[in-house]
Amino acid sequence: MTAAPQLAADGRLRHLLTLDGLPSALIENLLDDAARLREQWHTQRALPQHLAGRTVVNLFFEASTRTRTSFDLAARRLGALVVNFDIASSSTSKGETTEDTLATLEAMDADAFVVRHKENGTPAQLAAHARQAAILNAGDGNRAHPTQGLLDLLTIRDRKGRVDGLNVVICGDIRHSRVARSDVHGLHALGAGSVALCGPASMLPAREEFPGCRISDDFDAALTDADVVIMLRIQRERISDLPDLDVDSYHARYGLSMQRLARARRDALVMHPGPINRGVEIASAVADGAQSAILDQVANGVFVRMAALTRLLAR
Ligand code: ASP
Repeated sequence: MTAAPQLAADGRLRHLLTLDGLPSALIENLLDDAARLREQWHTQRALPQHLAGRTVVNLFFEASTRTRTSFDLAARRLGALVVNFDIASSSTSKGETTEDTLATLEAMDADAFVVRHKENGTPAQLAAHARQAAILNAGDGNRAHPTQGLLDLLTIRDRKGRVDGLNVVICGDIRHSRVARSDVHGLHALGAGSVALCGPASMLPAREEFPGCRISDDFDAALTDADVVIMLRIQRERISDLPDLDVDSYHARYGLSMQRLARARRDALVMHPGPINRGVEIASAVADGAQSAILDQVANGVFVRMAALTRLLAR
């Protein structure tokens, strides 16, 4: 099946499936819209009801805390009606296909579906079937997590004033990470100076999948001159043959400790999409320290999702 294009013929956003190939001007516009909504929220605690009369369905086939809550708050604060579709007690568990679930809910005038699925490509498949509704990818397999990419870009832009020219290191289980993929697409679109991907060899991706990135198993070396360090969790649920992991030796080589962070630039920003595993990929002192932007990322997530929903749904 061919994936539905996420841009309409006139260049407008029709679905949000991936940052791969999204024009950089559109990415910048989404970040600007998010920053504007954030400003309004912080100064007035009230927002324009861009989504009044619209219905947004959260279709999460995989566990989520942050992303689902974040989409839910974003849609509700802009006035939408939100349905959190309960997969476990739905007809999906009676054998209904995801496409038929979509058609059923579209017949009830759902305007947008926020989809998370363990299989790569499910949001794009649904987009190919959608009649009117917009599909927002909330994470598919290891392929894409576009709103995470956007919130990471906004966080970097806020704290560093730009993305252009920055040296970014992403460390951890790159191979299984949809966050790494969306971050790399977004960072390249906005002109990051260098992007280095680090981790043990078994967690590194194929080089051809990441043109323009440095790929290495030497985290210490990669940290030199880093402006931004993004740490990732080991995606156990996506690894079928995970050997017993020795947490201490993983942390000793790939964990971000205060001592190791000192190798990066003095004002380097530390990020993590969450959920964090303290003492594994990141030490508590770093996660809770002055250079950490982890909770800023969470806060920004609500606003980039508002920006995306508005662009897709506002009349
Ligand atoms: N929350 C992110 C994701 O959905 C990162 C993670 O789970 O480690 O991919």
